[in-house]
Amino acid sequence: MSQVSTLRGPVEKAVDNTRFRVFTQRDLERIPQLAQLESEQRLAMKVVSSVLPFRVNDYVIDHLIDWSKVPDDPIFQLTFPQKEMLLPEHFERMAELYKRDAARDEIQAMASEIRRELNPHPAGQMQLNTPLGRDGLPIEGLQHKYRETVLFFPSQGQTCHAYCSFCFRWPQFVGDKSLKIATTEASRLHGYLRDHKTVSDLLITGGDPMVMKTKHLKQYLEPLKNPGLEHVQTLRIGTKALSFWPQRFVTDADADELLYLLEDLVEAGKHVALMAHYNHWRELDTDIAERAIKRIQETGAVIRSQGPLLAHINDDADDWLHMWNRQIGLHIVPYYMFVERDTGARHYFEVPLHRAWEIYRDAMRRVSGLGRTARGPSMSAGPGKIEIQGVTEVQGEKVFVLRFIQGRNSEWVQRPFFAKYDEKATWLNHLKPAFGEEKFFFEDEYEEICSLRGAIQQAGGA
Ligand SMILES: *Cc1c(COP(=O)(O)O)cnc(C)c1O
Repeated sequence: MSQVSTLRGPVEKAVDNTRFRVFTQRDLERIPQLAQLESEQRLAMKVVSSVLPFRVNDYVIDHLIDWSKVPDDPIFQLTFPQKEMLLPEHFERMAELYKRDAARDEIQAMASEIRRELNPHPAGQMQLNTPLGRDGLPIEGLQHKYRETVLFFPSQGQTCHAYCSFCFRWPQFVGDKSLKIATTEASRLHGYLRDHKTVSDLLITGGDPMVMKTKHLKQYLEPLKNPGLEHVQTLRIGTKALSFWPQRFVTDADADELLYLLEDLVEAGKHVALMAHYNHWRELDTDIAERAIKRIQETGAVIRSQGPLLAHINDDADDWLHMWNRQIGLHIVPYYMFVERDTGARHYFEVPLHRAWEIYRDAMRRVSGLGRTARGPSMSAGPGKIEIQGVTEVQGEKVFVLRFIQGRNSEWVQRPFFAKYDEKATWLNHLKPAFGEEKFFFEDEYEEICSLRGAIQQAGGA
């Protein structure tokens, strides 16, 4: 019957790393490789990880990080806290508490205070994107920003196999409940989708939905085959498991069941896409990563890749070129290059927009046409996904050429517009309209949408 079954069988001996074991802040001392660092560095890790989430596993430690290159190793930077990820004033405030052996409560209170200063919900995610149900009440765990795609955050999928140090959804992983977005209500999801026939895509995200047991994932996905939901054509699953825990698709107890589920959805006529988060070609370089990719593809699901451009990790055109080429070789479709968002440790990872475009272009011009499906560099901002198309001069004025890839109003999509060139700008809010204009073409309408939405939410008691 199934192609997947032919893929069963013994896993190569080289891959003995099949037991999932995680390390969090409390376990820093138990990671043998950290012993090679200065005690000051280890303390800094403790300080930073009391504010920003930290979680890593054996596979990342033993197979992805090159410990001879630490601290510059990109995967080390991607997963381990670094002192400079906190602003100096925040770092000092927290380090002070550790130095005088402050109580846990005090540390937690300080952590919450600092987190609130880190723009925990950029782009109005909570206020603007949570849709209302038939009863007029917001449906927690859903975001509906662009007409055709609904985002769903299943409550069992709000963690990851390891955390990225730059994560833009970092508030999901720290204690403050008020900052979380999640639901267990599969039926509310399906009800909402039934009521919205313009929705063609469901994007299950997190956290990482692939941390869920297959039987939970099934509860969300299987009913999408039912009558009344034919318009939901595409099921996308956002994940970093292909990098951080490829065992999920190969050796985990319910790996086969997961692949059968994907295959079943494909056979039911759905387009199933794994939106794989990749930051570096090294994540593609282990045997088990490759094996996981092949197994997923054998189900008929497509893997597309996306990820942000980050200082200290991948701000180099050669790395992007190499990564996209590897992905083409593995039948993965490059999809987006993102600009690091304006939240969390952004000051550490951000790359000026003009530089981001240069890196994108330098990699793009050298990759095969099949790799040029990667759009970007793209900012996921309040009004939409805005791509930097380039830097040029128009009648003597140096400008950024921009366009909406996605817009809160679909009328904005694909409309080019211009901003004054600014060498330091790292995000949309740093940009000013070019040619002496006062506002960008979408600004008035965007403000209107925001204030309307605020009024509705107040009336709904949210
Ligand atoms: C990126 C994104 C989507 C999907 O947009 P596509 O252009 O279809 O990939 C949907 N919702 C939100 C909030 C997004 O940021």
